[in-house]
Amino acid sequence: MKCHYCDREAVVRLPYAKLNLCREHFAEYLLRKLERSVERYKMFGRGSKVVVGVSGGKDSVTLTKLLSESGLAKLLVVHVNLSIGEYSRISVETVRRFSVEHGLDYLIVDLSEYGISIPELVAKTRRSPCSVCGMVKRYVLNALTLDLGYDALATAHHADDMAVYIVKSFLLQDYDQLYKISPVNYEVPGLAARKIKPLYEFYEFEIETFAKLYGLPFVSVKCPFKHAGWLERYVRELLDKAEEESPGFKISLLRSHARRTLSMRSAEQAKPKACASCGLISSGTECSFCRFTRRALGQPMGLVVRRWIIEQAAASGTRRVTGTPPSSVG
Ligand code: SF4
Ligand code: ZN
Ligand code: ZN
Repeated sequence: MKCHYCDREAVVRLPYAKLNLCREHFAEYLLRKLERSVERYKMFGRGSKVVVGVSGGKDSVTLTKLLSESGLAKLLVVHVNLSIGEYSRISVETVRRFSVEHGLDYLIVDLSEYGISIPELVAKTRRSPCSVCGMVKRYVLNALTLDLGYDALATAHHADDMAVYIVKSFLLQDYDQLYKISPVNYEVPGLAARKIKPLYEFYEFEIETFAKLYGLPFVSVKCPFKHAGWLERYVRELLDKAEEESPGFKISLLRSHARRTLSMRSAEQAKPKACASCGLISSGTECSFCRFTRRALGQPMGLVVRRWIIEQAAASGTRRVTGTPPSSVG
């Protein structure tokens, strides 16, 4: 099997694009695809400052590598240490290694001394680990992007997961959730950072192939809390079958969804509210993070987090700051 563009052997087949590509042309193809997505969804302008949320998994290291290769933005890698035992220790070390190897500024946010650790928070409430974890990461990354004056926050959600979330939200008739799923959620000045998903149209197999071909370090152990319910498994299987029958099906679905949600967005963001405790975006009097930490830890922690970010990150110019000494991880 020869590469579509040169005489080299192809290492990957992209059924949706009807292309077989060699290692070099595959990397070039993904880079162009990333640039087209940034442009198509008006994610950020050339030279912007972008925070990349990096868990250390294949998706986030691939996103960071491609963004960094594109030279489109000045990047800050941010990892939130979730304090989930061995899984978090490996993740912190992987993000550190990846950032150092690629000469990237990075910041490891460790708030465990304030009781912000996923196992601890989960033990104090009845919420599922992933919902607590998602809320903590969203809060910290939003606060950090705003408080350090970055233009956008990039996360590595890919097409396979996004398509599942859209169909699942529709089946559950959860329209609030459905309309929030978007390749770009524009900022609300002072309250919410711009959130972007540059891998919105990337398939998981493309990301994994790239990470392996280019020898990127990534965490392959699973989080012990990872759990996919029956509906998610069912929807994933259904969408995979649809993609097999009609390559490119997921991307068409995602593009139609984005057209619809992006045109509805301005009305929804017309009346944003500020949390009475921390001042960031909120749907009620207090934001979900402050409400949750007030219940679990006895006080709303939004301002504590914002102070930590400003003191530790801003004071050191956001360069290679960490809440734990390097010798205590790995
Ligand atoms: Fe957090 Fe759930 Fe992911 Fe574990 S699986 S890192 S708890 S979101
Ligand atoms: Zn080639
Ligand atoms: Zn708050």
